[in-house]
Amino acid sequence: MDLLHQAGLYLHIPFCRRKCRYCSFFSFAPQPGQMQALVAALRQQIGQSAELSEVRVLAFATLFIGGGTPSLLHADLLAEVLALCRQSFCWSAEAPEISIEVNPGTIDEQGLRALRRAGCNRLSIGIQSLDDDTLHRLGRLHSREQALVTVKAARRAGFDHLSCDLMYGLPGQTARSWRWTLEEILSHAPQHLSLYELTVEEDTPLWEQVDNGQCVLPPEEEVLAMMAITEELTGKAGYRRYEISNYALPGYQCRHNLNYWHNGFYLGLGPGAVSALAGERRSAVANLQEYCRLVNLKQPVWKEVERLEREAAFRETVVMGLRMVNGVSVNALRSRYSLDPTTYYGPTLAHLIDQEFLVLQHGRLRLSRKGLPLANQVMAQLV
Ligand code: SF4
Repeated sequence: MDLLHQAGLYLHIPFCRRKCRYCSFFSFAPQPGQMQALVAALRQQIGQSAELSEVRVLAFATLFIGGGTPSLLHADLLAEVLALCRQSFCWSAEAPEISIEVNPGTIDEQGLRALRRAGCNRLSIGIQSLDDDTLHRLGRLHSREQALVTVKAARRAGFDHLSCDLMYGLPGQTARSWRWTLEEILSHAPQHLSLYELTVEEDTPLWEQVDNGQCVLPPEEEVLAMMAITEELTGKAGYRRYEISNYALPGYQCRHNLNYWHNGFYLGLGPGAVSALAGERRSAVANLQEYCRLVNLKQPVWKEVERLEREAAFRETVVMGLRMVNGVSVNALRSRYSLDPTTYYGPTLAHLIDQEFLVLQHGRLRLSRKGLPLANQVMAQLV
């Protein structure tokens, strides 16, 4: 067999019970029959994708079922799709990381046990906050209590790689309430934490509420205090920050997401999913009916295909790589693209290093402690 490239597989389940006020992802409340329609189309797309020459050169090391709220699908349906993926694609020799996102209040212990039996070995719980008022303001459907019930049920169901998603910089949130939330979550010792600062996206109900003064975001000093609390509490509890927003106990980094940050190969299945294959970025139509129609006709589901030329791919790999705390390897960039960041970016890079936003050390380029909170501004100069 020819050399296979390691890759990640992603399944997008675009269903949510109701839209959260800050959400700009492709997700919606399903109508009767839509879940079955999605699963039927996914089955077909899996079969069709497995035949593609650009997919046959891939060995999948990870599978991530995300959304949306994948836990809205019945665990038996998910198990069936997962088994089909295992049979249809080539997998790398090491045991794959199989993650699924769940939202509190959408799955009980029995369902979690079924996911575990189906082969899911990593669970990512969308908690966001443990403050009921904050959850309400965000339009989340669950309570603090339901979030904690899900964490405990996941443990009992045998998930020993648990990740919790939380957000800070939320309307009405204070540094003190962020501390309480984080302390409480840490007391349950999840192996992994994704801690995102809220970005208020245009065209969301939250944007409007912020714009018309109905909702007030915490001031910058308060957000900086939240960041300091994050560093203090995660550090004390033995977590290592390995990406701008991600923290893990040793050995528990998310392999699936690391592949994205290394700008590796991935195949995304489902409406709205994105793939990086054969030097192209392909985005599927973000419309369930259209997706099902195209799959039924055995036609490509892509709404957009972008060919990435060498320099664009190089810049992307640098920028994505800088999201990781240990940055990018200059040698790896040279051998992958025959380009060197120092010569390619010239004075721009030298200036960022002089200003101590970036560090070039031991053959790696990375954000400094000073640069990490300003990652977006730094990266904007390198895209
Ligand atoms: S649960 Fe997640 S994907 Fe669904 S609406 Fe809320 S933020 Fe969006």
